[in-house]
Amino acid sequence: MQFVDVVLEHAPCPLGCRDADTIVLKGRDRLHGLPGEFNVVRCGGCGLMRTNPRPTPETIGFYYPEDYGPYLTTTVLPGKDLRSSALKDRARELLRLNLNAVPPLPAGRMLEVGCASGAFLHVMARKGWQVQGIEFSEAAASRGRKLGYPVYAGQLETAPSPREPFDLVVGWMVLEHLHNPVKALSQVHAWTRPDGWLALSIPNLDSRQFALFGNAWFPLHLPNHLFHFTRDSLVRVLKAGGWKVERILYHRDVSQLIASLGHKLQDMRRPPSCADKIAQFPDWQGKLLLPLYPLSSLFALLRQSSAMTVWARREDD
Ligand SMILES: [Zn+2]
Repeated sequence: MQFVDVVLEHAPCPLGCRDADTIVLKGRDRLHGLPGEFNVVRCGGCGLMRTNPRPTPETIGFYYPEDYGPYLTTTVLPGKDLRSSALKDRARELLRLNLNAVPPLPAGRMLEVGCASGAFLHVMARKGWQVQGIEFSEAAASRGRKLGYPVYAGQLETAPSPREPFDLVVGWMVLEHLHNPVKALSQVHAWTRPDGWLALSIPNLDSRQFALFGNAWFPLHLPNHLFHFTRDSLVRVLKAGGWKVERILYHRDVSQLIASLGHKLQDMRRPPSCADKIAQFPDWQGKLLLPLYPLSSLFALLRQSSAMTVWARREDD
């Protein structure tokens, strides 16, 4: 597909508001440098922010090239990689980074929406969970299947209903990518047992980092992120999809703050190689996780982290 083929659509607020939108900012794809300029707008009725106009479900694939980061970074290779990823997960759990935190539940049936190459399916399977995944990228889905897990390749909307309901549905950095989050949340509501749980992570637009960096804010990720949630708008969208928020955890992770600084330096045309390297910080942070931990914890305590994880429970009338 070429850029000229990328059809855009205007989509109304998914909460059914009819009020006028205001433009919050304009931005572009900074991850791959693909063409196009996009508006983030705020709904005058409920305050939910969204990318509008936006690529359609048919054209959005242009902005997910084969080397799209999350597909590669979650690849787990059998053998040595599995053991080292187990150690890393354990360390991250002990530090309570809250990145992929799930409610404390006995092992049951779990669905991961947007499971990429299956790394988290593997983490949960090792803990005794029966896991399944849904993944938009066929290449990533097939890597998940090679680990031995059932992964449906395609959109959530077209995935077949499960034979038995799930106890837990998770989605790490996925809700903001969906064209209709309310519809998606209603769909997983129908696939979950009564009192079942949902765990999602999303960028945190309440963070002052967003106000400070504007369109250079790393987690803005235009145009792949179609929705941009604050704590309030997240609670409202979850409620419309049939979910009641039980807990919100702030990520102990400043890697996106550092990457945002990299974007700012790129804009200021600072030595390009240096600015590019800083903008790619989330990929190479490794050993800096511990030295930066006190700062990350402070940001989480002040609810200023660039992302949050929400635990919600199925609500039935
Ligand atoms: Zn609205």
